[in-house]
Amino acid sequence: MSPMRAKHQCNYQGCKALTIERFCEPHKKAVEKAYDATRGTAAERGYNSTWAKVRTMKLNADPLCERCGYVAVLVHHKDRNPRNNREENLESLCKEDHVKEHIQDRWRR
Ligand SMILES: [Zn+2]
Ligand SMILES: [Zn+2]
Ligand SMILES: [Zn+2]
Repeated sequence: MSPMRAKHQCNYQGCKALTIERFCEPHKKAVEKAYDATRGTAAERGYNSTWAKVRTMKLNADPLCERCGYVAVLVHHKDRNPRNNREENLESLCKEDHVKEHIQDRWRR
């Protein structure tokens, strides 16, 4: 039996809305949408074997998110070019920071 879940601030940077979930309603939608749209390029999702290798190596070398220290689940291409697998272009990120990163892409446009 769980006690009433306390409300806390939306996880979205700068948002002060209170929510019982991770994000307030509008941000939840924004985050989901952005995540769908950017579930990674085919390469980020691990389609080709070179990338699979690079990705595994990177996650082994940097198993924690380079922004928040949480467990990293994917490797992000800083320059958005999925073919640029040079070490300095790769960043281990947790899901949330990866989504945030790509949401910023959309709003920058
Ligand atoms: Zn919010
Ligand atoms: Zn993170
Ligand atoms: Zn990415």
